[in-house]
Amino acid sequence: MKINFIDLQAQYLAYQREIDSEVLEVFSSAQFIGGEKLNKLENSLSTYTGAKHAIGCSSGTDALLLALMALDIGAGDEVITTPFTFIATAEVIALLGAKSVFVDIQNDTYNIDPSKIENVITEKTKAIIPVSLYGQCADMDAINAIAKKHNLPVIEDACQSFGATYKGKKSCNLSTIGCTSFFPSKPLGAYGDGGAIFTNDDDLATKMRMLLNHGQNERYKHKYIGINGRLDAVQAAILNVKLKHFEKEVQAREEIGARYSDILEDSGVTTPKIREENTSVYAQYSIRVKDRDAMVAKLSAKEIPTAVHYPVPLHLQEAFANLGYKAGDFPISEAVATQIMSLPMSPYLTEAQQDYIADAIKGSECIK
Ligand SMILES: *Cc1c(COP(=O)(O)O)cnc(C)c1O
Repeated sequence: MKINFIDLQAQYLAYQREIDSEVLEVFSSAQFIGGEKLNKLENSLSTYTGAKHAIGCSSGTDALLLALMALDIGAGDEVITTPFTFIATAEVIALLGAKSVFVDIQNDTYNIDPSKIENVITEKTKAIIPVSLYGQCADMDAINAIAKKHNLPVIEDACQSFGATYKGKKSCNLSTIGCTSFFPSKPLGAYGDGGAIFTNDDDLATKMRMLLNHGQNERYKHKYIGINGRLDAVQAAILNVKLKHFEKEVQAREEIGARYSDILEDSGVTTPKIREENTSVYAQYSIRVKDRDAMVAKLSAKEIPTAVHYPVPLHLQEAFANLGYKAGDFPISEAVATQIMSLPMSPYLTEAQQDYIADAIKGSECIK
């Protein structure tokens, strides 16, 4: 049985006519940067999330970078985040000369543990970046309460959670600034790189709009040192089509995620725990197994693609050696990193494919 890890071909075939026509309109208009397609996308993103400002940008990484730049974070500052995430979350902190201060994750959601945040706050702390991993939001009320007490901004790394909800509110609109990614394999993916920044703060929105366009407030008048962080019109045009169909896909993702957990219930693997206040978009459907190498090999022999998000926590990465952490500092992140693996996931995964995957998992001895 042919199974794609993420079925972008099936999705393109479903919307091909609309996508082709939107993209051709950009080509014939010759408006490649900014313009009507981007304005329309930003308005729709704002309506969808409920955030007052939605700003298209070049990637999820740049969204995070722009958020930190807007908050004037730089040399000597500390930013609290999780070591169990994609490197971009902490990379942007280092790029600005600031220091990542890691806090271990919860054993059930794999998100930052709010009860451990206050211990590491110092007078150098300038922000907290929770990551909504695999499509499920962190405990944002608890995090926001700590942040408020210490007068700190919170940046949600929502690169995997666009479309998810926390207590009925949309991810990206849960804190000072929300950052998402439109990398092709994310829940809402473009056909190249892209991202967006969300905020309800008018001043931050104005500043981030300038920063992503070389700090310009008018042409060739530069108020800040910025970057080229713009989202192009072709990507905006594609995202306009995909966003129109997105809620239906979110629903399919939720159903497919829940069905996976159902059919794997007695299999011995640990399935994702989605907390009651959350809905997940299952950017990844990730399970925990005792012998991951054996399980990956077993599934691969049956032509079932898998991936590992993420095999090495950030505090053990060579690039962050200068932070001075060592093995044993974040035991939950380290344990999860050795056991976690992601199964094929997309709104186009069929029940027959899911049953085939579940049977392959159950028929293997490398469980739990
Ligand atoms: C994908 C991702 C990013 C980076 O997004 P890009 O668009 O690839 O730059 C950042 N953080 C997390 C958690 C991600 O999954």
